[in-house]
Formats: sequence, structure tokens, C-alpha cells
Amino acid sequence: MLARPHAVVWTSRRCEPIIPLIDDAPTTATTVTITTIRPMIPIPRPADRPEQIAFSPGRVNLIGDHTDYNGGLALPMAIELGTRATFRADRTGSLLITSDAEPEPAVIDLAELRAGIRYPAQLAPFWARYVAGVATAAGVGELVQGGTGVVTSQLPRGAGLSSSASLEVALALAFGGDALVETRSRMQIARACQDAEHRATGVKSGLMDQIAILFGAKAHATLIDFAKRPDPLVQQVSIPDELEVLVVASATSRRLAGSAYARRRAECIQASEIIGPLGSASVDSLAAIEDPVLAARARHVVTECARVRQFVEALESADFAAAGALMTASHLSLSRDFEVSTPELDSLVEDLVGDRHIFGARLTGAGFGGCAVALCRAGTVHPEERRRPSWVLRPSEGARLTP
Ligand code: ADP
Ligand code: MG
Repeated sequence: MLARPHAVVWTSRRCEPIIPLIDDAPTTATTVTITTIRPMIPIPRPADRPEQIAFSPGRVNLIGDHTDYNGGLALPMAIELGTRATFRADRTGSLLITSDAEPEPAVIDLAELRAGIRYPAQLAPFWARYVAGVATAAGVGELVQGGTGVVTSQLPRGAGLSSSASLEVALALAFGGDALVETRSRMQIARACQDAEHRATGVKSGLMDQIAILFGAKAHATLIDFAKRPDPLVQQVSIPDELEVLVVASATSRRLAGSAYARRRAECIQASEIIGPLGSASVDSLAAIEDPVLAARARHVVTECARVRQFVEALESADFAAAGALMTASHLSLSRDFEVSTPELDSLVEDLVGDRHIFGARLTGAGFGGCAVALCRAGTVHPEERRRPSWVLRPSEGARLTP
């Protein structure tokens, strides 16, 4: 049995209670770079609208990777670490956004972008592509006429905690403010931010990250069923207080992720042409796929969706050992069948699984580097004792405008 669904509604513009922002964040996670704004950058004229402040968490995926774009199941959770964006709108037709994680600001001419003279994926510095992606995304872009903003973040970038979707959602909320959250559903905002990511990177990434970040709920993971139409079904699954989630960075940030991701996606499409959407295919149907590589890719997706279901059941019956074993099985499947692990991630997961306080561990996110996630009993693991950057995390509220 799956967890009973909680109603998920976008109730008001102050979506949920406000959790502490940057000042109360774990000190291990903060990197601050002083941004210098170079001369000659056009400074938009003084604001004619109040400043909007948005906070958007990152996310860690507990189980269910490479399932979103296959119509399958995933169970991510929003985390305390995230991105804060402040934005003062004006009508200058240009954006000037700085980030404490980047030496160069994003300076965007909206008229050029909208006229197709430039595309988000052509801009420099690289991160300006995400800003431009959000500013032109269907559902958000039409609310943006210009302005100045500041981004601060506690998330490691390129580590699999979805700093990119966190940035997109924070910008979308700050750009659109009240008008956005009063007129669009969370799912519409998630889709707009996915569109922004596609425009920025050219990679047709799935919708899991944006949903996890927008629908996050304290003490809950978010079960997403991508088989449902027209929108994925979102249910909140309680994470017991006895559990904590440890995230450990591998030695490598994600490499060649874009092209490898696109290849995996194409392989899944090929496999689905033989057995139908992988997210709802049966294990028996896999026998119809002759090509061993396509069969392995499909086997990962089919068995991963089953593991997500079993993981939710294991949590419901407080069988944490079973939940942990499913995470470790997920890692093996991602490593052997889907081939998105790295030697560093494999040995990190092996180390974690050898720790008697840890129920199970796996790579998290798209793979090709990044972080591992482990399920542990609360209070038993201490990030400062690890050799690599690590965080002990609990599920947190989703993205929101703050007063
Ligand atoms: P992940 O989403 O797993 O962290 P990605 O490669 O998808 O990794 O996204 C990382 C990219 O997102 C960074 O290289 C940067 O361009 C952009 N980004 C994320 N957070 C910020 C931020 N706070 N400021 C500026 N750029 C950011
Ligand atoms: Mg990302």
C-alpha cells in the first residue's frame, strides 16, 4: 500500500511557515564570494515596485532516479539548504542579477532575448543562462519587464542537490512575486522552471527537481507518480523522526552529464518503443528487448519504480533496514544497469553501507559524479567526522515568497 495522499494545494502566497534562511544555516555549507560589479554595466533606473524575496530549497532524491522522464516514480525531499533571491522589478527591459557564488553578474537584455536575437544558451557568464531561461520561460517570463536582484545560496553547485532548479524556482518566485503565485499553480511554476532549465542548458531534463522543490513539506518526502496525466500525482510521505538523511559529496563534481544524460534518455525512448512506457512496464516484458544495453537501461527503470513503491511501504511499517537495502539496491542498478555511477561514487557508497549506523546508501540525482545519500538513525552520524563535505538533513518546506 502506498502512503495515504495528503491534499496538496497552493493555499496562499505565503505558502508555508517561514524557516530560518541564510543566517541559521549549517556553517559547513556556505561559500561566500564577494561580487564585484564591473563598470559599464547599465544600472536599471530606480525601482518602481517593492522588493520581492524568495527562498527555494535544494532537494535530495531518496530513491527513484532516471524515472521522471520515463513516466515512473520518484521520492525526493526538499532540504534546508537552498537559494535566496531578492528582486526589485522595474520596466527598464533589462535584468542585472548578482550571485554570491559567481564573480560576474548576469546582465540580460530582455528585448534581445524575446526577439530571438539571442538565446539563453548563448549567454555568458554561464549562470546567466538560467536567469535568461527563467525570464523567458512560458508562464513566468511574461511577468518580467526588468529589474535588479541578488542571489545568495548555501547549496553546493553541480553536486546533485539541484542548485540549478533551486536557482530557477527562487528567481521565478522573486521575478513574478504575488502576481505569479496568485495566478499559477505550483505545477505550472514547476513546468515553467523546467522550461527555463531546457532553455538554459539544452538538456531535456525531467520535472522531478522542480516538483520536489516547489511541493516540499516539513518532515515529508514527496512521492511523485509521473505516469499520471495531465500532471504528475504528488503525495507527501511522512519521514519518521527517528531517521536522518546524510548527504556526502564524492570527490568529483558531475562530468559530461549533459551529453550522457541525453544518451540515456534516447536509450529509454528506444526501449519504450518496444515495451511501452518504462515507468509502467513489467519485469516480464523486458524479455522482448534483444539489445543488451537497452534491456539493462529498461531493467533499471522498471525495477527502480518497484523499489520506490517498496521503500514507501518499508517506511510505513518502520522497517528501516528494508528501506536502506532498497537504496543500496538502487545504487547497484544505477551503477550496473544504467551506468551513471563513477568509481568514486561506488566506493563512497560502499564505505557508507559499511557504517553500522547507516541503513543503506546510493548515488543521488542524475549521477556521473555528485553526491551520495544515506539513510541513518537520527543522531548517529556526524558530518564533521567525514573526510568529504557532508550534510545531515531533514525534509523541509518547499519554495516560498518571504515577507
Ligand atoms: P546541480 O543542479 O546538481 O547543482 P547543475 O549542473 O544542474 O548541478 O547546475 C549547476 C549550475 O547552476 C551552476 O554551474 C550554475 O551555473 C548554476 N547555479 C546554481 N546555483 C547558482 C547560484 N546560487 N548562483 C549562480 N549560479 C548558480
Ligand atoms: Mg541541476
